[in-house]
Amino acid sequence: MPGFEVFGAEERKQVSDVLENGVLMRYGFDGMRNGHWKAKEFETAFAKRMGSKYCQLVSSGTSALTVALAAAGIGAGDEVIMPTFTFVASFESIMMLGAVPVLVDIDDTLTLDPKAVEAAITPKTRCVMPVHMCGSMANLKALMEICDKHDLVLLEDACQALGGTYDGKSLGSYGDLGCFSFDFVKTITCGEGGGIITNNKAYSVNADQFQDHGHDHIGNDRGEETHPTLGYNFRISELNAAVGIAQLDKLDGILKLQKKNYTIFREALKDVDGVTFRRVPEGGEENYSFLNFYLPGEVLAKKAHKALSEAGVDACFYWYTNNWHYINGWEHFRNLKSLGRLPSEIQNQIQDLNSADFSKSDAWMSRTISSLVKIGWTEAEVHERAELMRQAIVKALNS
Ligand SMILES: *Cc1c(COP(=O)(O)O)cnc(C)c1O
Repeated sequence: MPGFEVFGAEERKQVSDVLENGVLMRYGFDGMRNGHWKAKEFETAFAKRMGSKYCQLVSSGTSALTVALAAAGIGAGDEVIMPTFTFVASFESIMMLGAVPVLVDIDDTLTLDPKAVEAAITPKTRCVMPVHMCGSMANLKALMEICDKHDLVLLEDACQALGGTYDGKSLGSYGDLGCFSFDFVKTITCGEGGGIITNNKAYSVNADQFQDHGHDHIGNDRGEETHPTLGYNFRISELNAAVGIAQLDKLDGILKLQKKNYTIFREALKDVDGVTFRRVPEGGEENYSFLNFYLPGEVLAKKAHKALSEAGVDACFYWYTNNWHYINGWEHFRNLKSLGRLPSEIQNQIQDLNSADFSKSDAWMSRTISSLVKIGWTEAEVHERAELMRQAIVKALNS
């Protein structure tokens, strides 16, 4: 997945364009910048690559989610449905706005189970936020039907699935809004950064204003701008955006290599008795940043994970006991340990996450192992790793 593996001369050249004129900010200083508008250039290129009308760059994937929710008018007391398997950014962005995260089960796609989503809808529900974890997607057609029926916003967190597609569309471009992260370990990186895509003009204007203090961005004197709305500062810097331009040029090459390496791993595991693969919804194509597979049960999955690590196979993840990506590891969230008092809407409405029944999610997560797919490995290293993986898993399943 990591774009940092291909950081090179192209990124350095983009950054030095910015360093030469010294305008590190994306707005204003027209005379000094020698025609360099890196953030704008990235936004235009990214919207085009994703097949979306609009793109708004911001400072991180987490701020992209926050800005996207705000742009859709989501605020205090509104309920946003999110999965149990995701990154902490999902509930952070929701709660930042005083909105209430509603956690529901995943299924064998490792993403939102549409039936669980429908069952969780209340009169306060405003948004469904699928998270396309580890390179593959939620059943977007089913989720879109639910959102249409109940008049809800569909916001895709595509931070881990850049370049994957569904129904021929880029992930992130299917729903009302899509969010991406360009942090240092993502498919392409800006160092830090995030992006929002949408075809909705009003959302794009809202996002543009909200991420920069509500400034209207009309005219070319920032000091004269008015504020149609309250906002915040989630801006990206020109230096970060510059890195992203060079990385975006490399995206297709990255995806091609990921697919090639993924296929070698999958071929090596496909005949191992007891190994099955994550379900990809019909009409979807992964971005191949991870190979995700199931073992027959929790005990064997733990055994296989240990065997992989003992065999020296790095970057294999057992998310079930991981502190970042599954509800089991989020003690701070389950017990609402905030520095200051949380909005009363959150305190009053949030489900009791310590007693909620997520046994359906547990059943999949406890069996799941994900192998990262790097692009810096040589072909020989990929084959060697595939063979080590196969041997370690076969041994764990048969001892
Ligand atoms: C990385 C990530 C984010 C947040 O991105 P940052 O840029 O690190 O803030 C959000 N959601 C998912 C699924 C992610 O993997």
